[in-house]
Amino acid sequence: MGTFLTGPERTTTRFGEPAAFREGLVRVATDTFAWMVPNGSWGETNIGLIRCGRQSVLIDTCWSTKYTREMLMFASDLLTQAPVEVVINTHADGDHCWGNQLFVGREIVATHACIKQMHHLSPRSLSALALASRLVRHSPHAPMARFGHYMHSMLHPYEFRDIAITLPTTAFSQRKEMKVGGVDILLLEVGPGHTDGDAVVFIPERRVAYCGDIAFIGSTPVMWSGPVEKLVAALHSVLALDADLFIPGHGPIATRQDLRLLIDYWEYAQDRIALHHQRGVPPAVAAREILRSRDFRERPWSRWDSPERLVTNAFTLYRHWGTTSALMRLGPVNVLWHQAQVALGDCHEDIEHGSELR
Ligand SMILES: [Zn+2]
Repeated sequence: MGTFLTGPERTTTRFGEPAAFREGLVRVATDTFAWMVPNGSWGETNIGLIRCGRQSVLIDTCWSTKYTREMLMFASDLLTQAPVEVVINTHADGDHCWGNQLFVGREIVATHACIKQMHHLSPRSLSALALASRLVRHSPHAPMARFGHYMHSMLHPYEFRDIAITLPTTAFSQRKEMKVGGVDILLLEVGPGHTDGDAVVFIPERRVAYCGDIAFIGSTPVMWSGPVEKLVAALHSVLALDADLFIPGHGPIATRQDLRLLIDYWEYAQDRIALHHQRGVPPAVAAREILRSRDFRERPWSRWDSPERLVTNAFTLYRHWGTTSALMRLGPVNVLWHQAQVALGDCHEDIEHGSELR
């Protein structure tokens, strides 16, 4: 889907795996583009670019200034004719907005809830976590070593030290219609779900929808905020758009069938995790048991990258079901700790960022 235009020569992903699709700028409709990053794992985020006459709208920025600059460089022919005047952030995760500082002075748009969440994690603390995880990989304490290995393999392609979180200049709630260079752009708030303030962007005349991280294709979706009902409703509202193509936050360009499969994943996750929740099983154990089951292995999502993200999803579901232990209140690092144990612990010893869990 789409026409590949230009991109780096790399044939592997940032994690050194064979690339499932080529990295670079793809034309998905007239004057409408996506910067596609294989294979859609941690920080391998797709970016949208819409030419609107003599200016452009960028949808999301990369996790680091290096990758944001690289994308701008490859798109420079286009951007010389139509510079970026508007940036839209689909949500507050760093891999969608930590390149914002390259657009100071331009209009940056996001939901109120997204902006409120943008300081939830500082680049400095993520740098510290990256450094610590590199060091503790060699810890004699096996769970600590697993955590180090897991986080290091997730973070090592990225550099956060120069990031200055740059907040949007325009906030909206629910719905915003913009006209840029004569092109209608519709922004729909669909969160909370993946994060607190998710938005999708739809260009009616080009029939393209940019979904942000309510859509992961080929890698396991993550629900940091929930509730799951809202995330599923978000997918239904994207399916209701009169679009031919859907650009996910991560992974290859999606069809309606791909989005329906995501809804199936969430229904499956919810059903199976509920059974463990009712038995009083802790969320990480619930996720581990499901991931090891024959039932899971027979599902299409068992072949998606990072299946261990089911641990995060289990924690979020438990929280919405009213179960909050002292451990759960420790937040995302604690959840990732458990996720690392499930990914690298007793399931499979030598996996890289969870892509081979079985
Ligand atoms: Zn993302």
